[in-house]
Amino acid sequence: MDAILVINAGSSSLKFQVFSIAGMGLEREIRGKIDGIGTRPRLQATAADGTQLIERAFDRAAVRDLPTAIAEARSWLLALEGFKLCAVGHRVVHGGPDYVRPVLIDAGVLDRLASYQDLAPLHQPNNLAPIRLAMEINPDVPQVACFDTAFHRGHAEHTDCYALPRHFYDQGIRRYGFHGLSYEFVAERLREVATKVARGRIIVAHLGSGASMCALRDGRSIESTMGFTALDGLPMGTRPGQLDPGVILYLIIHKGMSAQAVSDLLYHDAGLKGLSGLSNDMRDLLASDDPHAQLAMSHFVYRCVLNAGMLAAALGGVDAFVFTAGVGENSARIRARIVEGLAWVGAELDPAANEAGAMLISTAASRIALHVIPTDEELMIARHTLALISAPNA
Ligand code: ADP
Repeated sequence: MDAILVINAGSSSLKFQVFSIAGMGLEREIRGKIDGIGTRPRLQATAADGTQLIERAFDRAAVRDLPTAIAEARSWLLALEGFKLCAVGHRVVHGGPDYVRPVLIDAGVLDRLASYQDLAPLHQPNNLAPIRLAMEINPDVPQVACFDTAFHRGHAEHTDCYALPRHFYDQGIRRYGFHGLSYEFVAERLREVATKVARGRIIVAHLGSGASMCALRDGRSIESTMGFTALDGLPMGTRPGQLDPGVILYLIIHKGMSAQAVSDLLYHDAGLKGLSGLSNDMRDLLASDDPHAQLAMSHFVYRCVLNAGMLAAALGGVDAFVFTAGVGENSARIRARIVEGLAWVGAELDPAANEAGAMLISTAASRIALHVIPTDEELMIARHTLALISAPNA
Protein backbone atom coordinates (compact mmCIF):
# COMPACT_ATOMS: atom_id res chain seq x y z
CA MET A 1 0.00 0.00 0.00
CA ASP A 2 1.07 3.61 -0.61
CA ALA A 3 2.67 5.10 2.48
CA ILE A 4 4.17 8.24 3.98
CA LEU A 5 7.05 8.05 6.41
CA VAL A 6 7.24 10.78 9.05
CA ILE A 7 10.58 11.48 10.72
CA ASN A 8 11.16 13.53 13.84
CA ALA A 9 14.85 13.52 14.69
CA GLY A 10 16.24 14.93 17.94
CA SER A 11 19.66 14.82 19.58
CA SER A 12 19.13 11.55 21.46
CA SER A 13 16.13 10.04 19.72
CA LEU A 14 14.78 9.34 16.27
CA LYS A 15 11.00 8.99 16.10
CA PHE A 16 9.28 7.67 13.02
CA GLN A 17 5.75 6.83 11.96
CA VAL A 18 4.30 5.20 8.88
CA PHE A 19 0.91 6.28 7.53
CA SER A 20 -0.89 4.51 4.71
CA ILE A 21 -2.68 6.64 2.16
CA ALA A 22 -6.31 5.95 1.40
CA GLY A 23 -7.52 8.57 -1.11
CA MET A 24 -6.93 11.88 0.69
CA GLY A 25 -7.12 10.12 4.05
CA LEU A 26 -4.31 8.76 6.23
CA GLU A 27 -4.17 5.74 8.54
CA ARG A 28 -1.42 5.40 11.10
CA GLU A 29 0.18 1.97 10.61
CA ILE A 30 3.42 2.08 12.63
CA ARG A 31 4.79 4.16 15.46
CA GLY A 32 8.47 3.69 16.28
CA LYS A 33 11.57 5.23 17.75
CA ILE A 34 15.20 4.71 18.52
CA ASP A 35 16.05 6.38 21.78
CA GLY A 36 19.11 6.39 24.00
CA ILE A 37 21.34 7.15 20.98
CA GLY A 38 24.96 7.09 22.15
CA THR A 39 24.01 5.82 25.60
CA ARG A 40 21.56 2.88 25.69
CA PRO A 41 20.18 2.63 22.16
CA ARG A 42 16.87 0.85 21.79
CA LEU A 43 14.63 0.39 18.76
CA GLN A 44 10.95 -0.02 19.45
CA ALA A 45 7.96 -0.06 17.13
CA THR A 46 4.29 -0.88 17.47
CA ALA A 47 1.50 -1.42 14.98
CA ALA A 48 -1.68 0.65 14.94
CA ASP A 49 -3.44 -1.84 17.23
CA GLY A 50 -0.64 -1.61 19.79
CA THR A 51 1.01 -4.92 18.82
CA GLN A 52 4.74 -4.77 19.39
CA LEU A 53 6.64 -5.14 16.11
CA ILE A 54 10.16 -4.88 17.45
CA GLU A 55 11.99 -4.23 20.71
CA ARG A 56 15.73 -4.41 20.34
CA ALA A 57 18.64 -3.06 22.35
CA PHE A 58 21.96 -2.16 20.72
CA ASP A 59 25.51 -1.70 21.93
CA ARG A 60 26.31 1.90 22.55
CA ALA A 61 28.95 1.77 19.81
CA ALA A 62 26.55 0.26 17.26
CA VAL A 63 24.16 3.22 17.44
CA ARG A 64 26.51 5.96 18.52
CA ASP A 65 24.96 8.92 16.69
CA LEU A 66 22.03 10.01 14.60
CA PRO A 67 23.34 8.69 11.23
CA THR A 68 23.86 5.19 12.66
CA ALA A 69 20.38 5.35 14.23
CA ILE A 70 18.90 6.35 10.87
CA ALA A 71 20.70 3.43 9.21
CA GLU A 72 19.28 0.95 11.75
CA ALA A 73 15.75 2.32 11.50
CA ARG A 74 16.04 2.28 7.72
CA SER A 75 17.11 -1.33 7.45
CA TRP A 76 14.27 -2.35 9.76
CA LEU A 77 11.75 -0.31 7.77
CA LEU A 78 13.05 -1.69 4.44
CA ALA A 79 12.45 -5.23 5.64
CA LEU A 80 8.77 -4.45 6.18
CA GLU A 81 6.61 -5.81 3.46
CA GLY A 82 3.56 -4.26 1.88
CA PHE A 83 4.48 -0.57 1.96
CA LYS A 84 5.36 1.55 -1.06
CA LEU A 85 7.04 4.74 0.11
CA CYS A 86 5.50 7.76 -1.65
CA ALA A 87 7.05 10.56 0.40
CA VAL A 88 8.91 11.37 3.58
CA GLY A 89 7.71 14.18 5.86
CA HIS A 90 10.36 15.67 8.16
CA ARG A 91 9.92 17.79 11.22
CA VAL A 92 12.25 20.77 10.96
CA VAL A 93 12.35 23.07 13.91
CA HIS A 94 13.30 26.27 12.10
CA GLY A 95 11.89 27.65 8.90
CA GLY A 96 13.61 31.01 9.47
CA PRO A 97 11.91 34.18 8.29
CA ASP A 98 11.15 32.69 4.88
CA TYR A 99 9.06 29.57 5.22
CA VAL A 100 5.41 30.18 6.05
CA ARG A 101 4.29 26.69 5.07
CA PRO A 102 5.74 23.21 4.43
CA VAL A 103 7.96 22.88 1.39
CA LEU A 104 9.17 20.19 -1.01
CA ILE A 105 12.89 19.88 -0.43
CA ASP A 106 15.50 20.24 -3.15
CA ALA A 107 19.18 21.11 -2.91
CA GLY A 108 18.43 24.86 -2.80
CA VAL A 109 15.90 24.46 0.03
CA LEU A 110 18.33 22.26 1.94
CA ASP A 111 21.04 24.93 1.67
CA ARG A 112 18.68 27.57 2.96
CA LEU A 113 17.59 25.37 5.87
CA ALA A 114 21.23 24.74 6.70
CA SER A 115 21.75 28.51 6.84
CA TYR A 116 19.27 28.61 9.76
CA GLN A 117 21.47 26.23 11.72
CA ASP A 118 22.78 29.10 13.86
CA LEU A 119 19.20 29.98 14.84
CA ALA A 120 18.59 26.50 16.29
CA PRO A 121 22.00 24.91 16.82
CA LEU A 122 20.69 22.12 19.04
CA HIS A 123 17.92 20.98 16.72
CA GLN A 124 18.41 22.04 13.11
CA PRO A 125 21.48 19.86 12.36
CA ASN A 126 19.66 16.79 13.72
CA ASN A 127 16.59 17.63 11.65
CA LEU A 128 18.62 18.00 8.47
CA ALA A 129 20.74 14.86 8.80
CA PRO A 130 17.90 12.43 7.92
CA ILE A 131 16.83 14.66 5.03
CA ARG A 132 20.29 14.55 3.48
CA LEU A 133 20.46 10.81 3.89
CA ALA A 134 16.94 10.21 2.55
CA MET A 135 17.66 12.39 -0.51
CA GLU A 136 20.84 10.44 -1.14
CA ILE A 137 19.29 7.01 -0.75
CA ASN A 138 15.92 7.70 -2.38
CA PRO A 139 16.46 10.59 -4.80
CA ASP A 140 13.11 9.91 -6.43
CA VAL A 141 11.01 9.99 -3.28
CA PRO A 142 9.72 13.50 -2.44
CA GLN A 143 10.94 14.88 0.88
CA VAL A 144 8.83 17.49 2.65
CA ALA A 145 9.98 19.82 5.44
CA CYS A 146 7.36 20.85 8.00
CA PHE A 147 8.35 23.64 10.36
CA ASP A 148 7.66 24.41 13.99
CA THR A 149 7.89 28.11 13.20
CA ALA A 150 5.72 28.31 10.05
CA PHE A 151 2.34 28.50 11.81
CA HIS A 152 3.41 31.73 13.54
CA ARG A 153 4.77 33.49 10.50
CA GLY A 154 1.57 35.49 10.04
CA HIS A 155 2.23 37.52 13.21
CA ALA A 156 2.06 41.28 12.79
CA GLU A 157 5.46 42.96 12.52
CA HIS A 158 5.09 44.86 15.80
CA THR A 159 4.60 41.51 17.61
CA ASP A 160 7.37 39.81 15.66
CA CYS A 161 10.20 42.18 16.55
CA TYR A 162 12.31 42.98 19.59
CA ALA A 163 13.01 46.57 20.56
CA LEU A 164 16.52 46.37 19.11
CA PRO A 165 18.11 48.37 16.29
CA ARG A 166 16.45 47.48 13.03
CA HIS A 167 19.42 45.68 11.48
CA PHE A 168 19.09 42.89 14.06
CA TYR A 169 15.58 42.14 12.80
CA ASP A 170 16.90 42.10 9.25
CA GLN A 171 19.53 39.58 10.36
CA GLY A 172 16.75 37.29 11.51
CA ILE A 173 16.63 38.15 15.22
CA ARG A 174 12.84 37.94 15.57
CA ARG A 175 10.19 36.35 17.69
CA TYR A 176 9.58 33.16 15.71
CA GLY A 177 7.47 31.07 18.07
CA PHE A 178 7.61 27.25 18.11
CA HIS A 179 5.37 24.16 18.60
CA GLY A 180 3.56 25.37 15.47
CA LEU A 181 2.73 21.89 14.18
CA SER A 182 1.06 21.09 17.48
CA TYR A 183 -0.97 24.31 17.46
CA GLU A 184 -1.99 23.80 13.87
CA PHE A 185 -3.21 20.29 14.66
CA VAL A 186 -5.15 21.53 17.70
CA ALA A 187 -6.71 24.34 15.65
CA GLU A 188 -7.87 21.81 13.03
CA ARG A 189 -9.19 19.45 15.68
CA LEU A 190 -11.09 22.28 17.38
CA ARG A 191 -12.81 23.03 14.08
CA GLU A 192 -14.08 19.43 14.12
CA VAL A 193 -15.13 19.15 17.77
CA ALA A 194 -16.10 22.72 18.72
CA THR A 195 -16.81 24.48 15.43
CA LYS A 196 -18.20 27.73 16.84
CA VAL A 197 -15.52 28.11 19.53
CA ALA A 198 -12.81 27.43 16.94
CA ARG A 199 -13.64 30.72 15.20
CA GLY A 200 -13.13 32.67 18.41
CA ARG A 201 -10.28 33.80 20.67
CA ILE A 202 -8.42 30.79 21.98
CA ILE A 203 -5.38 30.20 24.13
CA VAL A 204 -3.71 26.83 23.55
CA ALA A 205 -1.26 25.64 26.20
CA HIS A 206 1.21 23.06 24.87
CA LEU A 207 2.60 21.79 28.16
CA GLY A 208 5.11 19.01 27.53
CA SER A 209 8.77 18.76 28.41
CA GLY A 210 8.98 21.86 26.22
CA ALA A 211 6.13 24.25 26.97
CA SER A 212 4.57 27.25 25.31
CA MET A 213 1.23 28.93 24.73
CA CYS A 214 -0.28 30.27 21.55
CA ALA A 215 -3.06 32.80 20.98
CA LEU A 216 -5.37 31.75 18.15
CA ARG A 217 -7.89 34.00 16.48
CA ASP A 218 -10.14 32.30 13.95
CA GLY A 219 -7.72 29.35 13.92
CA ARG A 220 -4.64 31.47 13.17
CA SER A 221 -1.73 32.17 15.48
CA ILE A 222 -1.45 35.82 16.46
CA GLU A 223 0.95 35.50 19.41
CA SER A 224 3.20 32.96 21.10
CA THR A 225 5.05 32.88 24.41
CA MET A 226 8.18 31.62 22.65
CA GLY A 227 10.43 33.98 20.75
CA PHE A 228 13.77 33.84 18.97
CA THR A 229 14.51 30.45 20.50
CA ALA A 230 12.53 27.80 22.35
CA LEU A 231 13.95 29.14 25.62
CA ASP A 232 11.47 31.98 26.10
CA GLY A 233 8.08 32.06 27.79
CA LEU A 234 6.94 29.35 30.18
CA PRO A 235 9.24 27.38 32.48
CA MET A 236 9.86 23.90 31.07
CA GLY A 237 11.36 20.58 32.10
CA THR A 238 14.93 21.84 31.90
CA ARG A 239 14.58 25.38 30.46
CA PRO A 240 13.79 28.44 32.58
CA GLY A 241 11.39 30.26 30.27
CA GLN A 242 11.37 34.04 30.39
CA LEU A 243 14.51 35.34 32.04
CA ASP A 244 15.84 38.86 32.50
CA PRO A 245 18.75 39.05 29.98
CA GLY A 246 20.62 40.83 32.76
CA VAL A 247 20.93 37.47 34.54
CA ILE A 248 22.88 36.09 31.59
CA LEU A 249 25.16 39.14 31.47
CA TYR A 250 25.74 38.81 35.20
CA LEU A 251 26.64 35.12 34.93
CA ILE A 252 29.13 35.80 32.14
CA ILE A 253 30.64 39.07 33.33
CA HIS A 254 30.61 38.64 37.09
CA LYS A 255 30.52 34.89 37.61
CA GLY A 256 32.94 34.06 34.82
CA MET A 257 30.69 31.47 33.20
CA SER A 258 31.51 30.66 29.59
CA ALA A 259 28.89 31.03 26.89
CA GLN A 260 28.78 27.22 26.63
CA ALA A 261 28.23 26.84 30.38
CA VAL A 262 25.36 29.36 30.28
CA SER A 263 23.88 27.55 27.28
CA ASP A 264 24.05 24.21 29.13
CA LEU A 265 22.41 25.81 32.17
CA LEU A 266 19.57 27.29 30.12
CA TYR A 267 18.86 24.23 28.00
CA HIS A 268 19.62 21.37 30.37
CA ASP A 269 19.75 22.35 34.04
CA ALA A 270 17.10 25.00 34.62
CA GLY A 271 13.28 24.85 34.63
CA LEU A 272 11.49 22.30 36.80
CA LYS A 273 14.72 20.35 37.15
CA GLY A 274 16.75 23.32 38.37
CA LEU A 275 14.12 24.77 40.65
CA SER A 276 13.11 21.47 42.26
CA GLY A 277 16.62 20.02 42.36
CA LEU A 278 14.76 16.76 41.83
CA SER A 279 13.46 16.09 38.36
CA ASN A 280 12.42 17.60 35.05
CA ASP A 281 9.42 15.26 34.93
CA MET A 282 6.16 16.68 36.26
CA ARG A 283 5.10 13.18 37.37
CA ASP A 284 8.02 13.02 39.82
CA LEU A 285 7.17 16.45 41.21
CA LEU A 286 3.51 15.55 41.62
CA ALA A 287 4.50 12.43 43.54
CA SER A 288 6.89 14.27 45.84
CA ASP A 289 6.21 16.12 49.09
CA ASP A 290 9.58 17.88 48.92
CA PRO A 291 8.94 21.65 49.34
CA HIS A 292 11.23 22.38 46.36
CA ALA A 293 9.07 20.17 44.15
CA GLN A 294 6.02 22.09 45.38
CA LEU A 295 7.78 25.38 44.63
CA ALA A 296 8.66 24.28 41.10
CA MET A 297 5.03 23.33 40.42
CA SER A 298 3.68 26.56 41.92
CA HIS A 299 6.11 28.54 39.77
CA PHE A 300 5.04 26.59 36.66
CA VAL A 301 1.34 27.15 37.32
CA TYR A 302 1.87 30.82 38.18
CA ARG A 303 3.82 31.48 34.99
CA CYS A 304 1.15 29.66 32.92
CA VAL A 305 -1.54 31.88 34.41
CA LEU A 306 0.55 35.02 33.99
CA ASN A 307 1.27 34.24 30.34
CA ALA A 308 -2.39 33.39 29.73
CA GLY A 309 -3.17 36.93 30.91
CA MET A 310 -0.71 38.31 28.38
CA LEU A 311 -2.23 36.29 25.54
CA ALA A 312 -5.76 37.22 26.64
CA ALA A 313 -4.71 40.87 26.27
CA ALA A 314 -3.27 40.16 22.80
CA LEU A 315 -6.60 38.58 21.81
CA GLY A 316 -8.76 41.25 23.47
CA GLY A 317 -10.54 38.55 25.51
CA VAL A 318 -10.78 34.78 25.60
CA ASP A 319 -13.47 32.36 24.45
CA ALA A 320 -11.66 29.09 25.17
CA PHE A 321 -8.56 27.64 26.78
CA VAL A 322 -7.11 24.37 25.52
CA PHE A 323 -4.65 22.01 27.23
CA THR A 324 -2.41 19.76 25.17
CA ALA A 325 0.89 17.75 25.25
CA GLY A 326 2.27 15.51 28.04
CA VAL A 327 1.36 17.56 31.12
CA GLY A 328 -1.67 19.26 29.57
CA GLU A 329 -3.23 16.00 28.39
CA ASN A 330 -2.42 13.86 31.42
CA SER A 331 -2.33 15.89 34.61
CA ALA A 332 -5.76 16.73 36.03
CA ARG A 333 -4.06 18.34 39.05
CA ILE A 334 -1.98 20.80 37.07
CA ARG A 335 -4.97 21.61 34.84
CA ALA A 336 -7.13 22.28 37.91
CA ARG A 337 -4.52 24.63 39.39
CA ILE A 338 -4.16 26.58 36.15
CA VAL A 339 -7.93 26.88 35.75
CA GLU A 340 -8.12 28.21 39.33
CA GLY A 341 -5.85 31.03 38.20
CA LEU A 342 -8.14 31.72 35.25
CA ALA A 343 -11.19 32.39 37.45
CA TRP A 344 -10.80 36.09 36.61
CA VAL A 345 -11.86 35.36 33.00
CA GLY A 346 -14.81 33.37 34.30
CA ALA A 347 -13.27 29.90 33.87
CA GLU A 348 -15.09 27.24 35.86
CA LEU A 349 -13.85 23.67 35.96
CA ASP A 350 -16.04 20.56 35.97
CA PRO A 351 -13.93 18.47 38.39
CA ALA A 352 -15.39 15.12 37.31
CA ALA A 353 -14.83 15.84 33.62
CA ASN A 354 -11.30 17.03 34.43
CA GLU A 355 -10.47 13.87 36.38
CA ALA A 356 -11.87 11.76 33.54
CA GLY A 357 -9.69 13.69 31.02
CA ALA A 358 -12.81 14.55 28.99
CA MET A 359 -12.49 16.70 25.91
CA LEU A 360 -14.66 19.42 27.50
CA ILE A 361 -13.78 20.07 31.15
CA SER A 362 -15.67 23.33 31.84
CA THR A 363 -19.10 23.59 33.48
CA ALA A 364 -22.11 24.82 31.52
CA ALA A 365 -21.89 28.07 33.53
CA SER A 366 -18.22 28.70 32.69
CA ARG A 367 -17.73 31.92 30.72
CA ILE A 368 -14.98 30.27 28.66
CA ALA A 369 -14.83 26.74 27.27
CA LEU A 370 -12.04 24.57 28.68
CA HIS A 371 -10.81 21.74 26.46
CA VAL A 372 -8.28 18.92 26.54
CA ILE A 373 -7.19 18.09 22.99
CA PRO A 374 -4.43 15.50 22.51
CA THR A 375 -1.93 16.82 20.01
CA ASP A 376 -0.60 14.82 17.05
CA GLU A 377 2.34 16.54 15.38
CA GLU A 378 3.20 13.47 13.30
CA LEU A 379 -0.28 13.29 11.79
CA MET A 380 -0.02 17.01 10.99
CA ILE A 381 3.28 16.36 9.18
CA ALA A 382 1.75 13.44 7.28
CA ARG A 383 -1.22 15.62 6.24
CA HIS A 384 1.05 18.38 4.99
CA THR A 385 3.22 15.87 3.14
CA LEU A 386 0.23 14.26 1.45
CA ALA A 387 -1.20 17.65 0.51
CA LEU A 388 2.10 18.75 -1.02
CA ILE A 389 2.71 15.62 -3.07
CA SER A 390 -0.91 15.63 -4.24
CA ALA A 391 -0.80 19.28 -5.37
CA PRO A 392 2.82 20.48 -5.35
CA ASN A 393 2.01 23.79 -7.03
CA ALA A 394 -1.06 24.67 -4.97
P1 ADP B 1 7.80 16.32 24.45
O1 ADP B 1 7.72 17.79 24.77
O2 ADP B 1 9.15 15.72 24.69
O3 ADP B 1 7.17 15.91 23.15
P2 ADP B 1 5.49 15.36 25.87
O4 ADP B 1 4.53 16.33 25.28
O5 ADP B 1 5.24 13.93 25.62
O6 ADP B 1 6.99 15.65 25.56
O7 ADP B 1 5.54 15.62 27.44
C1 ADP B 1 6.40 14.90 28.24
C2 ADP B 1 6.22 15.35 29.67
O8 ADP B 1 4.85 15.22 30.06
C3 ADP B 1 6.98 14.48 30.66
O9 ADP B 1 8.27 14.95 30.86
C4 ADP B 1 6.16 14.63 31.91
O10 ADP B 1 6.66 15.73 32.66
C5 ADP B 1 4.78 15.00 31.44
N1 ADP B 1 3.78 13.97 31.73
C6 ADP B 1 3.49 12.85 31.04
N2 ADP B 1 2.50 12.15 31.65
C7 ADP B 1 2.17 12.86 32.76
C8 ADP B 1 1.22 12.69 33.81
N3 ADP B 1 0.42 11.63 33.87
N4 ADP B 1 1.17 13.61 34.77
C9 ADP B 1 1.98 14.69 34.75
N5 ADP B 1 2.87 14.93 33.78
C10 ADP B 1 2.97 14.03 32.80
